[in-house]
Amino acid sequence: PLAQRDEAADEQRRREGIFASAQERYYERPMQIERGWRHHLVDTTGRAYIDMVNNVTGLGHGHPGVADAVNRQIRILNTNSRFLYRELAEYSERLLALLPEGSGLDTVLLVNSGSEAVDLALRLAQAATGRKTVVALREAYHGWTMASDAVTTSAYDNPFALENRPEWVHVADVPNRFRGTYRGEADDVSVGERYAADLGADLDRLAGAGRDAAAFICESVLGNAGGVLLPNGYLADAYARVRAAGGLCIADEVQVGFGRMGSSFWGFEQSGAVPDLITIAKPMGNGFPIGGVITSKRVADALAAQGQFFSSAGGNPLSCRVGLAVLDAMEAEGLQANARAVGERLATGFRALAEKHSIIGPVHGEGLYLGVELVRDRATLEPAKQEAAAICERLKELGVIVLTTSERSNVLKVKPPLTLTEESADVVIAALDRVLSEGW
Ligand code: PMP
Repeated sequence: PLAQRDEAADEQRRREGIFASAQERYYERPMQIERGWRHHLVDTTGRAYIDMVNNVTGLGHGHPGVADAVNRQIRILNTNSRFLYRELAEYSERLLALLPEGSGLDTVLLVNSGSEAVDLALRLAQAATGRKTVVALREAYHGWTMASDAVTTSAYDNPFALENRPEWVHVADVPNRFRGTYRGEADDVSVGERYAADLGADLDRLAGAGRDAAAFICESVLGNAGGVLLPNGYLADAYARVRAAGGLCIADEVQVGFGRMGSSFWGFEQSGAVPDLITIAKPMGNGFPIGGVITSKRVADALAAQGQFFSSAGGNPLSCRVGLAVLDAMEAEGLQANARAVGERLATGFRALAEKHSIIGPVHGEGLYLGVELVRDRATLEPAKQEAAAICERLKELGVIVLTTSERSNVLKVKPPLTLTEESADVVIAALDRVLSEGW
């Protein structure tokens, strides 16, 4: 409708007037959204869309349990973690109880975002090892603060990053078995071995140059690439090599943790490896800003050498109550199990579409973190970047919000609220089938 288009255009002009140009927005012609409910967003004309991208709102939009927790707690108490109150320990204990048995991780530091969590994890690792160098994988996103941006190696997010990277960061090859240096089937363990061996050689070279690694940081599933699972055996092998070299392993679970994988709560459990530090954020608060680092007391206490650690809002009673409400709802609503069942249905649907539409290359991911990689040629894997953007625009017209990700912007990212139903999944598959059949 005309009225809505004008309203959205006005809002867009208003935003462009006051925002920095680096503050990107989705879509050439965006709709103006007004409210959300479960895995739906509604625009100012009342049109509803299936939301396939908001992984922060893991419980879905407008969750009443979160709303009630905020409402109740903000009337009672909200203060900082130097005071003693019950909510901080209660929430931290709940987080620790989610870790695999015998992980040795017993300490939680709460902050307000993923970037802060990564920044703090890097500081902790450097303090605990007395070393500076951090090894990060190519094509990764870890945040916007100075330190988390330094380990953000994705050229999409930071095109000059590779040239101007601070000397304390070393960039290692990304173990992508689909389009990386070494390729092969999921069950071919030699792929992971070769990437891990190269990482080991990097660690040796760093040590030889007097730059021993303090830490190795990676996403446990390559989220920025669109949910690319690490090659079999890679993570455990990589962690073993980092530890043998005296470094610590950081799992960035900001995107892929918290039940989204379906078959496991944490992304690293997919690989059977346990990190020394875990960074978490996005879905912890279902949109309310919370982030955190989970580690061992031994690592955390090393920070004391640098003075005290304090975040004004980190771990406040309000955010802890929200965090508890999120975990309660995840359990009560069986959202991890839903991620597994509906994710499987979606992945099967996308793979079936691949038989019909040659533009669909590999379908990545697990649970409700999937990536549909679009290629012009399945042999050369030439990225279908412009096609991917056009497909997203057309899907929006059909009422489905899907966006692109990866270094090459050619992967349709699928990371909806975990409330996605089978019916909605089927609508999404049918819509994609229609768009690919129409041409673009
Ligand atoms: N790590 C990863 C893997 C992320 O995807 C992001 C955000 N996209 C961050 C860290 C930073 O989180 P935030 O935006 O909450 O600062």
